[in-house]
Amino acid sequence: MSHPITTLDMAMPSSSSTAGGVGIENSRKRSLDSNNANQAALLAARVEPKSIIEIHISNDTAHKKVCLEHKEVEAVDDTSIKAAAETPAAPASATAPENEQEKKQDKDLIELTAEEQQLDEEYRKNCTIFLQHLPCFKLQQPTDVDASTVPRIPKCRECRRRHISKAATSVSGNHNNSNSNNDVYCRFYEFRRLQYNAAGELRVAGFPNPYNEPTPADFSVWQPDEKTAPTAGYMDIQVCRYILLHAGDQFCYLWRQEAEALKLHENPDDTIAWKKAVQGIREICDVCDTTLFNYHWTCNKCGFGLCLDCFKDRKDGQRLRRVEKERGRDEYHWLLCTDDDAAAAGKQQHELRSLMLTQIIAGDSLNVLGRLLHDVRTLWQVPQVCGCLLSKQQVDDPELTALIQDMIKESQLKQQTSASSLATEQTLRQQQRLEELHAKKLEFARERGIDYVPGRVWTKETLGKDPITSAFDNFKHINFLRKGLAGLRRFLPPRAMTLAHSTQLAPGVPHEWLCDGKLLRLTDPMHPDNRVLYQDVWKCGQPVMISEVARSLNLDLWHPEAFCKDFGDKPNDLINCLNGNLVPNQPMRHFWEGFQCISKRLLDVNGKPMLLKLKDWPPGDDFAEIMPTRFADLMKGLPMPEYTLRTGNLNIASCLPKMFVPPDLGPKMYNAYGSALHPDKGTTNLHLDISDAVNIMVYVGIPKDEDSKPQLAATQKAIALGGCDYITRARCQDPDVLPGALWHIFPARDADKIRDLLNRVTLEKGFRLEPDHDPIHDQNWYLDDKLRARLFKEYGVEGYPIVQCLGDAVFIPAGAPHQVQNLHNCIKVAEDFVSPENITHCYHLTHEFRRLSHSHTNHEDKLQIKNIIYHAIKDCCTILTRALDERIESEMAKVRGET
Ligand SMILES: [Zn+2]
Ligand SMILES: [Zn+2]
Ligand SMILES: [Zn+2]
Ligand SMILES: [Zn+2]
Repeated sequence: MSHPITTLDMAMPSSSSTAGGVGIENSRKRSLDSNNANQAALLAARVEPKSIIEIHISNDTAHKKVCLEHKEVEAVDDTSIKAAAETPAAPASATAPENEQEKKQDKDLIELTAEEQQLDEEYRKNCTIFLQHLPCFKLQQPTDVDASTVPRIPKCRECRRRHISKAATSVSGNHNNSNSNNDVYCRFYEFRRLQYNAAGELRVAGFPNPYNEPTPADFSVWQPDEKTAPTAGYMDIQVCRYILLHAGDQFCYLWRQEAEALKLHENPDDTIAWKKAVQGIREICDVCDTTLFNYHWTCNKCGFGLCLDCFKDRKDGQRLRRVEKERGRDEYHWLLCTDDDAAAAGKQQHELRSLMLTQIIAGDSLNVLGRLLHDVRTLWQVPQVCGCLLSKQQVDDPELTALIQDMIKESQLKQQTSASSLATEQTLRQQQRLEELHAKKLEFARERGIDYVPGRVWTKETLGKDPITSAFDNFKHINFLRKGLAGLRRFLPPRAMTLAHSTQLAPGVPHEWLCDGKLLRLTDPMHPDNRVLYQDVWKCGQPVMISEVARSLNLDLWHPEAFCKDFGDKPNDLINCLNGNLVPNQPMRHFWEGFQCISKRLLDVNGKPMLLKLKDWPPGDDFAEIMPTRFADLMKGLPMPEYTLRTGNLNIASCLPKMFVPPDLGPKMYNAYGSALHPDKGTTNLHLDISDAVNIMVYVGIPKDEDSKPQLAATQKAIALGGCDYITRARCQDPDVLPGALWHIFPARDADKIRDLLNRVTLEKGFRLEPDHDPIHDQNWYLDDKLRARLFKEYGVEGYPIVQCLGDAVFIPAGAPHQVQNLHNCIKVAEDFVSPENITHCYHLTHEFRRLSHSHTNHEDKLQIKNIIYHAIKDCCTILTRALDERIESEMAKVRGET
């Protein structure tokens, strides 16, 4: 039975009737996409209805200022806020009665809990300075009588809004489930200092000092302390050195950027305020939504917060975006001040020189860690190319150097033996022999003063080098090419490998090379030595495929019928991939029943079966909650768990302390019908992601109720057109193998060349290039064979064509543009992670995303990459320093014991 749906198959433009920021969405749309469907089709581009979801997202950044872990809190009554929000632009006459009203409400609504009351009385009695522990609207304000002598305490912009919204809801009798966590919405919560005077009048007593105010607990969040346990899971010496090798230079760059804040500052009052990091809150810039890491500027009247980059932009006279004028903001997209005095004086624009420099890190911890990082890298022989003065220092203690070399060697051996649990006696003997050979080499090197670090695997090519130093050699090779770009890591060139060579590198690891030797395919997901080959290509920014992952999954859980049975009645939005239209709020049964059965598929206006994908399901980060069994199944089967698990020691997102809002790293599902018969239509258009990801094919199916021959033939054709190599094509012709999805992954370094081509194609077709748009981030393009051919011919850019079959896991490096076309019906599940190798891409992408409009899902810096880098470096330095201390201690004990 079919379900013909005509009315619900909404076209994009008609969505403007839905409430929300849609008006803005439409005005932002590329001219290419808007009216001319024919021409768009000619371009093989199609409208990804990315912006549809934006209907539901409040465009009000101030409202999103803090992201709480608790969802109930995020669902603060939106409509009432909207109605009353952003009043500062209102004329003075309108503000006056509102103030009257506010005053009345001050009396009506302030209700302190017994606990708050007690604390308040204590502060009143002792007249001590205290950090604001209540939201502004709960603070005692001067009465009408003494209003002339006692200044009002400015309410932050959140509290003004919240206050109004609360009044609105209480009028309508619709009570919010107010939760004490709501208080942290307040911009001055735990930030502003207050004090009662002897007369019992409350006054603002400035802001906390970053050196005096933090408690030892506050310091422990930021300081490398050999006593505190590292936040991450098990990390050994080699892992720490590896992370420092890849992320250390980026930290130094971050450190220098922060130091620049002091030079940029303009306020004649150069005191720095300290904003304590509050559990579960991610502070974001009010202009660009980037996470505030450390130095930023705040308005001491309304709490407006501004990141370093936005401050710098204003100073250079640069606007964040050209379009998108918003109410309540000035021409630079800065929020206007909500303070009454500012409004009265007609000075609602925030000025550079009136903002207060604010830091989040406690005391001098950033500088302490920056210096420690360079010391640790020097001591532990981790190459550093940040080029700063500190990186040039040398150790002139030969005994210490020898001791550390011993420790490195031991840890390498441990890594080797612990990894090779399959090691036979023979290979152990082999290792021993190599070890002896190596000891001789070491002695030789020491005698001649050669800097020689033991190698992990000793072959002709790598003899005398460990993976860390050989990675460094590659850096040097490409360094000069990139020198002009400050802070940009020197990207390693992709490498083509031969089986003969890689088998020497990692004997016994089953694998093959696809894409002319550039794509590694590991075929035993559980092999303990996979990492050797994986890292060798991953550090060059190349994708990786690991097959046979399905062996460790319970595939019954991932069957479409299982999803239909468990979630068939739940409604969700669908997308018709043929035209990009949204099919909103369908019971998911309609999607799953048509998955394997064309006669049960939803029909479009013309009675044709739709080519559907399930949109964003499960929603948000609810996967583990909605499907705990499947979550557990996936976690135990994830390949390269040291990278992909949330606690993996090479997933540096695991270093983020518990008090920070954890980044949403998935898992996410991708469920869609196969579209081999429409070779110019992508299931997922070309785009890129800010973090690394692994995507696993857990189910591939083919409709059972129709002749499968045309579908199969189209699949083979798509694979050939897709540019797949001989080995891949041969694999897909095996009757036992059902090819699932065709991927094209492009190197991250080539993103700008791809942009250039797509912009050129747009111009060639007679369209204008809209400002603030980006052909990759807008996700409007699927590169068909013709566009890919042009990309290669004119720019020399070649992607990795990959066919993902059942049980194949595809690893996509951060920043690498990629697109997917489902050949057959696919269920895929993906998990994000943050590898040290691609940290530079994450860092610079965050910067790039600032300029994207709010309609982009990538716009907000949810990853908090700077915090992740900071805490990863902190953990590694802590572990290495502690290991060395312990070793010296034990050596000393030995000496003491002998004498
Ligand atoms: Zn407040
Ligand atoms: Zn900003
Ligand atoms: Zn202000
Ligand atoms: Zn440096």
